[in-house]
Amino acid sequence: MEISIIGGGPIGLIAARALVEDGHHVRLFDPSINKPKMSLALAESTLRLLDRIGVELGAGQDLTEILVNEKGLPGSMLLHASECGYPRFGRVVCSLALEEAVALHVSEFIETVAVETIRARSAHSNPSIQLATGEEVTPDLVILADGGRSHLTESLGLEAQHRPFGRSAILGRLRVSTPHQGRAYERFIGTGPLAILPVEKDVYGFVWSLSPDHAERLRQSNADLIEALKDAMPEELGSIELVADPVVIPLVERWIDQPYRPGVVLIGNGAQTIHPVAGQGLNLALRGVMQLTTELKTTEPDAAVRTAFAHWKPNRDKTRLASSSLEALFDRDVFPRKILTSLGMAVADQSPWLKTKIAEAGMGIVS
Ligand SMILES: Cc1cc2nc3c(=O)[nH]c(=O)nc-3n(C[C@H](O)[C@H](O)[C@H](O)COP(=O)(O)OP(=O)(O)OC[C@H]3O[C@@H](n4cnc5c(N)ncnc54)[C@H](O)[C@@H]3O)c2cc1C
Repeated sequence: MEISIIGGGPIGLIAARALVEDGHHVRLFDPSINKPKMSLALAESTLRLLDRIGVELGAGQDLTEILVNEKGLPGSMLLHASECGYPRFGRVVCSLALEEAVALHVSEFIETVAVETIRARSAHSNPSIQLATGEEVTPDLVILADGGRSHLTESLGLEAQHRPFGRSAILGRLRVSTPHQGRAYERFIGTGPLAILPVEKDVYGFVWSLSPDHAERLRQSNADLIEALKDAMPEELGSIELVADPVVIPLVERWIDQPYRPGVVLIGNGAQTIHPVAGQGLNLALRGVMQLTTELKTTEPDAAVRTAFAHWKPNRDKTRLASSSLEALFDRDVFPRKILTSLGMAVADQSPWLKTKIAEAGMGIVS
């Protein structure tokens, strides 16, 4: 099958690699060279897919423990991969390292050019896209993986739904004096959830959800950010220093109810952007990519797209809900709520069964 992919972010690249592996003819278009850098927690389902398509991830750290707690209260839940019967929960990597590892295998299919227009399949012709060079391409299937960053979705007549959280995420990297190998932290501070991921031996990525003003104030002053992080972080990590300038992004949930048209399918952030604090956006999107590539092996493109979406949609709905609930549940500094969640974590910590279920959902093993 001839397939054109618009967008060479992690999702477009991984989809390209998987489709080439299955024998399709792929062209991938993306004009950008400078990509943003973030820490990504890859679930086991994602690691299995990368393994299947021959992508080796040397970089990053295996995730073997996740400590969840409410700052200042005793209740906490510690998930150990070994207790849950798994060697690890997943692996944390820098997004650039992931993209480089995948691009190694697909560089010959990547063309550094933007796609300017897109048209769905009609009764008489294949879907078509026009490149900035003027070339028109008419493949059997167009995969739009533009991260929702271009006007192409709207030009197909697809309308995105938005749910703003009224929050921003400040994200960055820090070096700590006493790292705990393989341990990630999900911490509820009162001001909003803070996720801390071990990306290198003593370097952690952090994503902290805050009110937009608060996030912006901290972005403008590294000294204030360090102070705020020292107060919010678990003491066991010791002293900290920033190793990259922080970035602030507004938090919004964005999704398209039915992300396809004849001959065109949307994948990745362009089809759904979810709250990043649970670290599930890429993992969720790749579970959809796996469904799609499986269907495309045996079925014509439009039926494959419809069947793959129908199978994957329940997983998308659950993951979206779970990610946004974390924000809604934990963004208030209200004492009764804090006591209840702290108690809930203490109780959950005593239940290996519950901890295994929580961990398996995060690993993409059950949905
Ligand atoms: C702070 C943060 C932390 C996160 N942490 C995690 C995590 O731990 N685990 C996880 O699973 N997910 C996580 N996510 C989500 C994850 O980062 C995204 O799901 C993923 O990056 C989406 O990739 P994408 O390829 O869909 O889009 P993008 O990375 O946005 O790529 C889109 C590409 O399309 C190109 N493009 C746009 N328009 C055109 C055009 N007209 N022509 C050609 N090319 C075009 C762009 O240049 C870009 O390269 C996180 C997200 C955030 C914000």
